[in-house]
Amino acid sequence: MKHVLVLAMWMAAALSASAQTTTPTASSPASSRIDSPAQFLGYKVGDRFTPHHRVLAYAEQVARQVPSRVRLIPYGTTYEGRQLMVVAIASEANLSRLDEIRTNNLKRIGMLEGSPSSAAQPAIAWLSYNVHGNEAVSSEAFMDVLYQLLDPANPVSQKVMNATVVILDPGLNPDGHDRYVNWYNQMMGRSADPTPAAREHNEPWPGGRYTHYLFDPNRDWAWQTQEITQQRMALYQQWMPHLHGDFHEMGVESPYYFAPSAKPYHEDITKFQRDFQQTIGQYCSRYFDRNGWLYYTRERFDLFYPSYGDTYPTYNGAIGMTYEQGGSGRAGLAIEKADGDTLTLRQRIDHHVTASIATLESVADRAPDVVKEFGQFFDNARNKPIGAYKSYVIKANGDAGRLKALQQLLDRNKISYGYAGKAQTLPGFNYTSQKNEKSVSIAPEDVVISAYQPKSTLLKILFEPNSALEDSATYDITAWSMPYAFGLQTYGLTTRLTPSATAPAAAAAPAPSTMKPYAYVVRWQSMPAVQMLAGLLKQKIRVRAAEKPFELEGKTYPSGTLIVARAGNERFGDRLDALVRAEATRTGADLTPVQTGFVTKGSDFGSDFVTALKAPRVAVVVGDGTLPPAAGEVWHYFDQELNYPISVIDGNALGSVDWNKLDVLILPTNYNYGRFLNDRVLAAVKGWIQSGGKLIALERATAFLAGKDGFDLKEKEDKSAKDKEKKGNAADSLKLYGDRERTAISDETPGSIYRVNIDSSHPLGFGLTNGYYTLVQNAYNFDFLKDGWNVGYLKSDNYVAGFSGKNAKEKLKNTLLMGVQNYGRGSVVYLADDPLFRGFWYNGKLLFGNAVFMVGN
Ligand SMILES: [Zn+2]
Repeated sequence: MKHVLVLAMWMAAALSASAQTTTPTASSPASSRIDSPAQFLGYKVGDRFTPHHRVLAYAEQVARQVPSRVRLIPYGTTYEGRQLMVVAIASEANLSRLDEIRTNNLKRIGMLEGSPSSAAQPAIAWLSYNVHGNEAVSSEAFMDVLYQLLDPANPVSQKVMNATVVILDPGLNPDGHDRYVNWYNQMMGRSADPTPAAREHNEPWPGGRYTHYLFDPNRDWAWQTQEITQQRMALYQQWMPHLHGDFHEMGVESPYYFAPSAKPYHEDITKFQRDFQQTIGQYCSRYFDRNGWLYYTRERFDLFYPSYGDTYPTYNGAIGMTYEQGGSGRAGLAIEKADGDTLTLRQRIDHHVTASIATLESVADRAPDVVKEFGQFFDNARNKPIGAYKSYVIKANGDAGRLKALQQLLDRNKISYGYAGKAQTLPGFNYTSQKNEKSVSIAPEDVVISAYQPKSTLLKILFEPNSALEDSATYDITAWSMPYAFGLQTYGLTTRLTPSATAPAAAAAPAPSTMKPYAYVVRWQSMPAVQMLAGLLKQKIRVRAAEKPFELEGKTYPSGTLIVARAGNERFGDRLDALVRAEATRTGADLTPVQTGFVTKGSDFGSDFVTALKAPRVAVVVGDGTLPPAAGEVWHYFDQELNYPISVIDGNALGSVDWNKLDVLILPTNYNYGRFLNDRVLAAVKGWIQSGGKLIALERATAFLAGKDGFDLKEKEDKSAKDKEKKGNAADSLKLYGDRERTAISDETPGSIYRVNIDSSHPLGFGLTNGYYTLVQNAYNFDFLKDGWNVGYLKSDNYVAGFSGKNAKEKLKNTLLMGVQNYGRGSVVYLADDPLFRGFWYNGKLLFGNAVFMVGN
C-alpha cells in the first residue's frame, strides 16, 4: 500500500509548495493564456499514453499561446514519416535573442568564426525524452515540464527561466514510441489491469525500444547510423548545450536512478563534470526525500562507452546524465510489483518531472559557473589538449572508400581534419603493430587530424588505442578505437601538425579514352565496391570476380576485384558504359576502364579463376527470441546501405519457406532457434544447402549449429573447468559473495578488440589485405574446421584492446572466428562475431558483403 502513502505525500507537498514555493511537482495554475496538458488533451497526463503527434500538437498549442516564450525547432522526419522537433523555452528577453545566444556559445568555444558579443550568456540546458520508445513515460513528462516552466507562479521555474535557455526534445524516437503506445492502447480494456501476466504488460517482439530498423538509438550518438540520430546530432552541434539530461526507464522493480553515475568513469571526464554529477544528485535527492520516494545513485549506469546520451555530451564538454525510472514497456498504466505495491504511470511521470526540474534548477543556480567551465573545457581542448597524441595521421594509400567513410563520421561529429600537405618523417605510434616507430613517412595526401581543436576530447576518446578502464564491471563494450573499426593504417604522433585545408592536387587523370573499354574493373576493398556490386546485380548486369590478384596495364589488383566485361553483357549494347559509370559515381567505387583482358600477372578475364557472381535472393530470420538489433543490423545493411532486396522472415514462418526461391539465409543471434529450427525445418534447410543454398550464421546462431549433425563446427572442451576440478583444494576456489559481479566477469569479454588472422585468399577474406580487427562480445571457443576453411582465427596473442576477462582471454586463444564449410553444392558461413554490430564497425561491412556475394560462387 506504499503507493497510497506516496501519493498522499506528493499531494501534501504539492499543496504546501503552492504556498511555500520549492517543490517542482507543484502544479499551480499557469497563466490563463496557456492550456494545461489536460485541457488540451481531454484527459489528465498519466490517464493514458499519448501518441507522438499529440505530444507535438500540445507543444504547438503552447507555442501559439505564448510565442514570446516558446519556439518550436523542427529538425527532421523519421523513416516512418513522423516529425522530429525540439522546443526551446526561455524568458521573453532571451527568446527574442535566441539565435544570438546560440551563435555566441559556438563562437565562445571556437565552433563558429567571430567573437561573441558581450551580452550575458545564459546556460543552455537540453533534456532528451524517450530515446527508447517503449520507455514512454518521459514524453508524457515532457508536457508537464513544459507547462510548469511557463508557470509564472512557480518560483523555481522563474529562476530557471532567468538563467537558462531550456531545450526539450519530446521524443527522440517517435517510431519506437508509437510502436509501443499504439500497441498498448489496443491491449488495454476499460481500465488498466495491474496483473503482471496480463498481455498489456508483455510487449511482443521487437518492442518499442528500438528505431524503425531496430537499432538501439542510445548506442548511436557518436556513430550516427540512424536517420533520427543524424538529424538530431546536426541540431545538437549547432547548439552545443552546457547540460544534457537523458530520460529512461528500466525494470519495474527498480527505484529511481539519478546522478552521480556508477564507475567506471572515463579518465577524461573533468573534475567539474564529476563534481556536478554530485550536485545533480543533491538537487534531485532533496525533492525525492521530501516526497518519500526511493532512489539510488552510483550503481549500474556508468560513464565510459562514448555513444550514449550521457557520455557523448560529457565528451563534448557538457554535464551529461542519465535518469532511470522503473517501468518501461512492461509497466503500462499500472502494474503490481513484487512487494505488492502498484506502480502507476502517474507516479512514474511525477518522478521524471521532478528530476527534470530539479536538474534545471541546479544549473540555474550555477549558470555563470557552468558557462565559464564549459568555455574553459574548450579553451583547454584548443590550447592544451589531453592525451599522448597531438596529431593523428591516416595513410591515404589504403582505400578511398574507408577514408571517405571516416571523414563522414568526423564531419558528423564536427571534428576537423585536413591533409599533411608535404612529405615528412616523424616518430609515431603505429596502430597496426601497436608499437612506437622512429620514422613514420607521411605523404602530402595523408589525412591529418590535429588534437588542437574544439572537439579534441571527443577525438581523443574515439581514437585512443586502448581506453583506460578504472573498474571492469561495465554495462557495455569497452573498446571502439576508430582505426581498428575502419581498418585504416593510422599513426598517433606526439608532434603537433597543422593540417592544410585542401588536399594536394592529385596527378591529372589521363584524358578519358574515347575508345570503348574492353572491360571495367573495380577494386574490392570497402563498402563502395559492395554497393556497386549490389547495384549492378540488381540491374542484372553480369559481374565477375577475380579469385587471384592480378596485374594489368601497370596496376595491381587484389583478390575479389570486380570485372564488368562487354562479354556477357551484350544485351545492354552501348548503354553498358553509362550504366556502369553511373553506379561508380553513385557509390564512389574505384572504377578503372581497361582495354584488354590479357593480364601481365594472374589470371586472364576468361579464366576459370574469374567467376561470375550471382544476384542472390536473400532472407534474414527475425522474430521472437531474436535480439532485435542483431536482426535489424542485417535488415538495415541490405535495405539502407546496399539498397538490395532482402526478405525479412519470421522464425515461425521458416516451415513454409519455398527453398527453391532462396539463395542465402542469414541467421542472426536468436535464443529460440531450438523451436524455429526443429528437426523437420533443419532437415529442409540442410537439403537446401546440399543443393546449393548458403547459410550465414552469426554469433549465437553459430553456437546453435555447433555440434549438430552435418555441421562441422565444434566447441572446444572447456579445459579450464577441468583444470579447476583437478586442482583439488576446493576451498581455494570459493567465491566471495560480495565479489559475485566481479567473479562473473572474468568469463566475459563485453566488446574487446582482437586482431584476426585472415586468409585473404579465401572469398570470405577478400579485400581484407590490411588485416581485420574484430569486436569480440562472446568468448566462444570453436575448434578449427577439419574439412572447411578457417578464414579468420585467433592465435595465442591476438588481444588488442578493451576488457577481456581472465578466463575469456584464455578461451580466445587458438580459436576459430570465421569459417566456411562446403556442404554438398552449398556452403555454411560461420561468423562468431557480429561484423554489423551497431552498424559502426566499418570494416565488418566488407566482410559481411564477402559472406553474401563472394563465398560459394
Ligand atoms: Zn532506456
